[in-house]
Amino acid sequence: VEPVPSDLEIAQAADLKPILQVGEELGILPDELELYGPHKAKVRLEVLDRLRQAPLGKYIDVTAITPTPLGEGKTTTTVGLSQALGAHLGKRVVTCIRQPSQGPTFGIKGGAAGGGYSQVIPMEDFNLHLTGDIHAITAAHNLVAAAIDARILHEAGARDEQLFDRIFPKDRKGKRRFPRTLRTRCERLGLPARDPEHLSPEERRRVCRLDIDPAAVTWRRVVDTSDRFLRGITVGQGEEEKGFARETGFDIAVASEIMAVLALASGLQDMRRRLGDIVIGLDRQGRPVTTEDLGVAGAMTVLMRDALKPTLMQTLEGTPVFVHAGPFANIAHGNSSILADQIALRLADYVVTESGFGADMGMEKFFDIKCRVSGLVPDVVVLVATVRALKMHGGGPKVVAGKPLDPVYVEENLDLLRKGLPNLQAHIGIARKFGVPVVVAVNGFATDTEAELELVRAASEESGAEAAVVCRNWALGGEGALDLAEAVMRAAEKPSAFQFLYPLEATIQQKIETIAREVYGADGVDYSPEAERKIEEYTRLGYGRLPICMAKTHLSLSHDPALKGAPRGFRIPVRDIRASVGAGFLYPLLGKMATMPGLPTRPGFYDVDIDPETGRVVGLF
Ligand code: ADP
Ligand code: MG
Repeated sequence: VEPVPSDLEIAQAADLKPILQVGEELGILPDELELYGPHKAKVRLEVLDRLRQAPLGKYIDVTAITPTPLGEGKTTTTVGLSQALGAHLGKRVVTCIRQPSQGPTFGIKGGAAGGGYSQVIPMEDFNLHLTGDIHAITAAHNLVAAAIDARILHEAGARDEQLFDRIFPKDRKGKRRFPRTLRTRCERLGLPARDPEHLSPEERRRVCRLDIDPAAVTWRRVVDTSDRFLRGITVGQGEEEKGFARETGFDIAVASEIMAVLALASGLQDMRRRLGDIVIGLDRQGRPVTTEDLGVAGAMTVLMRDALKPTLMQTLEGTPVFVHAGPFANIAHGNSSILADQIALRLADYVVTESGFGADMGMEKFFDIKCRVSGLVPDVVVLVATVRALKMHGGGPKVVAGKPLDPVYVEENLDLLRKGLPNLQAHIGIARKFGVPVVVAVNGFATDTEAELELVRAASEESGAEAAVVCRNWALGGEGALDLAEAVMRAAEKPSAFQFLYPLEATIQQKIETIAREVYGADGVDYSPEAERKIEEYTRLGYGRLPICMAKTHLSLSHDPALKGAPRGFRIPVRDIRASVGAGFLYPLLGKMATMPGLPTRPGFYDVDIDPETGRVVGLF
């Protein structure tokens, strides 16, 4: 339809297949699906047992140039490519994407289901509660927060012997309950494994007293709303908690380490272990305290049990989509779940997934963290670029919300575009460092000229991309991404020479420096005294073997969001380093990372309502 209607209008006009049919066409048995209404279903993990021997399909990651406020259309391209492969070329395809947070949906960004004629539907469900995974994360996360403060309170009010018997009471047969927590506590304290009844009073004291340092608790609370007034709060101001007040705050739910765990877990037992390994802070001797120590890891796993199953949805052209997990792409790794990919790769010829932000962020983490954990080997990188975003990298003016776009973005301007090309070329170079073939997808806007598109195509191929094709799938659906699909299929036939950027055995500094130099183009790295202290501490604690998840701005290849294009001659400052031990990575902070967004003056929710006539959602974008 011309002009292209709004994303929501297109989505609501679509014919939806029953989700059972979508599953059946893909080869999922009806009893491997748990229905959440007619158009959403959870996929049971038993499907993996049945398909253990199935060959793996081709694994395609969609990434982009450095994001700009103009939007690059990564999800739109991910969905359009899948529609082309599945609905037009007859291939078996699964799209694997993240579930968005409600914070940005009601804030500035709007939905994340793709756009135009390349969307995941029903888009209202996709963008809002879906099947409740984010709520489960919120519940599990805040249970830990409650456990921490309650434990501090109760330890203060109990004598040692009392405390041991209360925390590890005897069952009817006289055996101590809670064996897993008891065992891990003993192990971590270096106490020999033996009957708890033989622990000395002093040993019992050490086992049951976590002695959490309230000032060293790093676990905060979460909610899936952009509520800036919760960034800093004081808890413990009730009558009965007098003396236990402490300052803490809220993050957006998707920034929870539990979300990162969900995305990296290989199954229920692995998730249980990771949830127990989460470090919530330090005790008064400076030793890490875990969720296992708190005795809460089992309950967290139970709350997360259903969330571990990917949700099956469909595109506008009826091809299957797995929606699963949505960790932050700065303080976490920014990729959908390993489990969804594992299932999809056994069912489909082609699995198309999207990683967060540009190739320097989500894609690097997709390779060095996600693929390392899963053992899966990527076959193709699709790098999305737009003419307008490249013009901004070339020095085009800032975009002001509510004002019409500057003419340079909607009229031919080859000079500005040429100046922005180094950003695209740098991202191609990053993907090639990993030995994976790159196809550039130029997401075409109606205002792009032939000469502009040709310039981008030529520059891409010059920089070593296998191909560069213009996509029209936003306006045309899968049909508009046929060239991209053909190029991707060709690239996928090349043998993958995939390699990680760094070995895990390298030191923490070596790993950080490798990413800074090879991916960001920095001259080197400078560490704050705090970062140096943490490196020493983490190495001592045995975390030195973990991969690195850089918490960097996504708006520049460097650490400075103002530096567009492909900056050179800069050094990366590492302010601090944190550990996500359960998820399994260290995250150096290169700037201030916002983990709780705020709402703008005119948030997205202003437009959202129920149409009184039809009962349908309006205004979601
Ligand atoms: P990303 O995944 O990179 O954040 P999305 O795919 O979500 O980007 O797209 C961002 C927004 O841009 C969506 O609202 C989408 O409808 C719009 N968009 C994407 N491609 C085009 C295009 N070719 N023409 C016009 N609008 C587009
Ligand atoms: Mg997206």
